[in-house]
Amino acid sequence: MLIKKGSKSLEEKIKELKKKRNAVILVHNYQLPEVQDIADLRGDSLELSRAAAKTDAKVIVFCGVHFMAETASILCPDKKVLMPDVNSDCPMASMITAQDLIKLKEKNPKAVVVGYVNTSAEVKAELDVCCTSTNAVSVVNAIIKDRSAFDGKDEIIFIPDKYLADFVERKTGKKLIKWNGVCPTHVKILPEDIKRERKFHPFAKVIVHPECLPSVIALADQALSTSKMCQFAKETEAKEIIIGTEVGLIYRLKLDNPDKEFYPASEAAVCPNMKRTTQEKIVWALEELKEEVKVSDEIRRRARKSIDKMLEIV
Ligand code: SF4
Repeated sequence: MLIKKGSKSLEEKIKELKKKRNAVILVHNYQLPEVQDIADLRGDSLELSRAAAKTDAKVIVFCGVHFMAETASILCPDKKVLMPDVNSDCPMASMITAQDLIKLKEKNPKAVVVGYVNTSAEVKAELDVCCTSTNAVSVVNAIIKDRSAFDGKDEIIFIPDKYLADFVERKTGKKLIKWNGVCPTHVKILPEDIKRERKFHPFAKVIVHPECLPSVIALADQALSTSKMCQFAKETEAKEIIIGTEVGLIYRLKLDNPDKEFYPASEAAVCPNMKRTTQEKIVWALEELKEEVKVSDEIRRRARKSIDKMLEIV
């Protein structure tokens, strides 16, 4: 789409269209700055989906990756959920299918099935409990504590991220049955990146995402989800923080904390799928009311149970 001289700016157009469509724009923390700038709400995947369920808007423009828009559709089936670029996928979520999980469950019939929110709706429909990087440890601890709520099952399958599973194992002491999934963006952050950045910024705190390599987590001060990183950045007395997650988060951290300095642990930690959404595509989505992401009723009902279970136990 070409914007002619003298015509409205994209931001003005988006504002107008939002009003016309009764729409809200939800933007993940890893999106491009131009997208973060026009957000009604920025956050992590579950924060955004829960906000979607609360809003009075009829249309939700979800600027993130596909499983996130699906989660919004699961939580608010009466709303129209749009993705400005429907090809924005999460490679980690694509590393396990519902069929893969059904086979894993058959092999491990005594296991409670916990799945990261970074999964497709079909996979969520096969879970007992969903979890996020913020609450994964609490979810597993709650299962260990109250096995009776899970038919006395004493094993736990944790999918799809093996490094998040490792992290949960270390924190809970519970051996998990894992899947061989990883986030291709977070594994680009290497131990030598942390060592180098610590040398450059000796007074900085280092926080990394639990999807990072265990050898990276071992060198950090803390491993935190993106929402916890935002909280940490606000509350810490440290003036400099090295950030071990997708680089897009730094834009938000700087806006929220103008008195602090943030350094990416690695400039290579870019999720290309998170960068596909642009302001132009948002205008198109609002004009055409496309592409809609809708989860079928049968899958939605089953997937919803795993999300409700998570909210019930932690
Ligand atoms: S950063 Fe990793 S987990 Fe997040 S959307 Fe990209 S590939 Fe998926």
